[in-house]
Amino acid sequence: MKKPFVTLEQLKEITKTYPTPFHIYDEKGIRENARLLKKAFSWNPGFKEYFAVKAEPNPYIMKILKEEGCGADCSSLTELMLSEAVGLTGSEIMFSSNDTPAGEYTKARQLGAYINLDDYTMIDFLEQECGIPETICCRYNPGGVYTVSNGIMDNPGDAKYGMTKDQITDAFRRLMQLGARRFGIHSFLVSNTVTNDYYPMLARTLFTLAVELKEKTGADITFINLSGGVGIPYHPDQKPNDIMVIGEGVRKAYEEILVPAGLGNTAIFTELGRFMLAPYGHLVTTAIHEKHIYKEYIGVDACAANLMRPAMYGAYHHITVMGKEDMPCDHMYDVTGSLCENNDKFAIDRMLPKIDMGDLLVIHDTGAHGFAMGYNYNGKLRSAELLLKEDGSVQMIRRAETPGDYFATLDFSEFFKK
Ligand SMILES: *Cc1c(COP(=O)(O)O)cnc(C)c1O
Repeated sequence: MKKPFVTLEQLKEITKTYPTPFHIYDEKGIRENARLLKKAFSWNPGFKEYFAVKAEPNPYIMKILKEEGCGADCSSLTELMLSEAVGLTGSEIMFSSNDTPAGEYTKARQLGAYINLDDYTMIDFLEQECGIPETICCRYNPGGVYTVSNGIMDNPGDAKYGMTKDQITDAFRRLMQLGARRFGIHSFLVSNTVTNDYYPMLARTLFTLAVELKEKTGADITFINLSGGVGIPYHPDQKPNDIMVIGEGVRKAYEEILVPAGLGNTAIFTELGRFMLAPYGHLVTTAIHEKHIYKEYIGVDACAANLMRPAMYGAYHHITVMGKEDMPCDHMYDVTGSLCENNDKFAIDRMLPKIDMGDLLVIHDTGAHGFAMGYNYNGKLRSAELLLKEDGSVQMIRRAETPGDYFATLDFSEFFKK
């Protein structure tokens, strides 16, 4: 059973001030989870989580995570600017971009961020643009198919990211010639893993590579970045990851591989997005229409522009019909938004309690890659974002868009200046 972190009574109160749809975030849940992650890796003195800003680019959320000791993982100019705005600088920022446009490395260097190079050819690009920093990271792609337990796998051989082993070896040598003194290694091989085995397995891959790179190039490897990919159970039947078990699995690999090779001072970094935030966000929406044709439809006031994952990946997001938690799920619905796109469905053939117009629906696990993937198709406006604070009060951390925001980049006529 997935239980919302807000009650119907709370939502009734909140919707008096903030109309649906909106995303709401749970400060308490975010903080407790961030502390647990820190605890799971407390065996590593240099451990740091760099929150993947793309998962939820809101400075209020980034500030909460900063207070819990997290930095930021950025891959664009505006993500760097957001980090700057919340007071993150220097080694608190990881710049893990790919296909990097001109000017962004310069911004990253101005902030003193760690730069993670996605490709060998980016060495010259960086050198010409703003020079090689003393500490530099390279992204690795082992190729092939990467299989973790319970069949979870991905296909790094098909992924655009990272360098081959030969390339990363050459990259370290060349970067040393150009003045780099300290090195990091990074890799992101499988997304949304719901198994405790992914990080420990990835750690073994990267630790073995680190030992090899140190032997071959003499490079001083100071950190290893396990990046993102630790997932969450979107479906109520899935067993959640146990981050303490994951941290312990990484520690075992560390002691078996890095310590004997004289790499026992290496810091472990993570760049988690989904794990840090997904469960601590809800998209709250109201049932506004019902339709009975060949199937039963419930139309809500949110649409795929507020949450793209179901339309984009066919992703499952659990739905709670507020106030009907104990009623039987004896109605089968497609829960849809209003886009003129037939994939604008939050749920297909979902068994739910009977939904009446005006019912509030909580769509679960929207805290990461939810609002952030929003778009304006069909002229749909982005919703507000609210923060449920630890004391139970609610703060609006982003207002809803207005038509003025949507038209802000047009200068067609006076009409658009209103
Ligand atoms: C998207 C991304 C992450 C975060 O991934 P999650 O699946 O949200 O943990 C981390 N690092 C990089 C480079 C990414 O692109």
